[in-house]
Amino acid sequence: MRFDILTIFPESLAGFFATGVLRQAQEKKLLEVHLHDLRDFTDDPHRTVDDRPYGGGAGMVLKADPFVRAIERIKAEAGIELRTILLSSQGHLLRQDDAVRWATLPGLLLLCGRYEGVDERVTAFVDEEVSIGDYVLAGGEVAAAAIVEATARMLAGVVGKFESVETDSFYGKARLGPPQYTRPPLFRGLEVPEVLLSGDHSKIEAFRERRAWEKTARNRPDLLGLDLDRGNPHG
Ligand code: SAM
Repeated sequence: MRFDILTIFPESLAGFFATGVLRQAQEKKLLEVHLHDLRDFTDDPHRTVDDRPYGGGAGMVLKADPFVRAIERIKAEAGIELRTILLSSQGHLLRQDDAVRWATLPGLLLLCGRYEGVDERVTAFVDEEVSIGDYVLAGGEVAAAAIVEATARMLAGVVGKFESVETDSFYGKARLGPPQYTRPPLFRGLEVPEVLLSGDHSKIEAFRERRAWEKTARNRPDLLGLDLDRGNPHG
């Protein structure tokens, strides 16, 4: 699968993709990552990517023109279908189901905003607007990295044992995965649950299932359709 990322800070992502499972997946030719500098798609000597907002207000807005020129050129040069995603605090919330869906596609083109965001007219040239959570980041780069990593994990061969993906939180079920433990069996007075040391696989399975649901109820009652009102911390 191919991932293209358009950003004004391509260098901020290079190290991320040169590490761990994503580096290995690129070496195995399971995925390709192409980083593009938005400034390379400007048409003025100053390589201007931003301008003041119409209507006034603080900060700068990324101009539509370089984005649209980049979308058109990157798609044409890729020669395969690239689903175009604008990273935005105003997009639909990223879920595991999205990663599963995207992993069936030939490629994604991820557009990162900065400053006050991207000229709204760019949304007319994208397939989806995606947010990674109800908070505001300084730019879309972290969100793009999250999308690549979550989607890549859904590709055959990227994670060593796909079984570990299937037992993860959110995979196929709206619930969290079971808690995990490793050696030593006793750490600062905290014991590993005895059943995990028993070697009885059906008991271990039942224990993990129960703990997964308990943790979901405790940490993510919203997944179970329960009311989640954490209140306003500033209220
Ligand atoms: N003015 C915007 C608003 O009110 O929603 C916030 C712009 S934010 C400071 C700059 C850029 O960061 C956005 O254009 C977007 O690309 C990225 N960004 C910020 N929060 C994000 C989130 N939760 N998910 C995805 N991208 C985000």
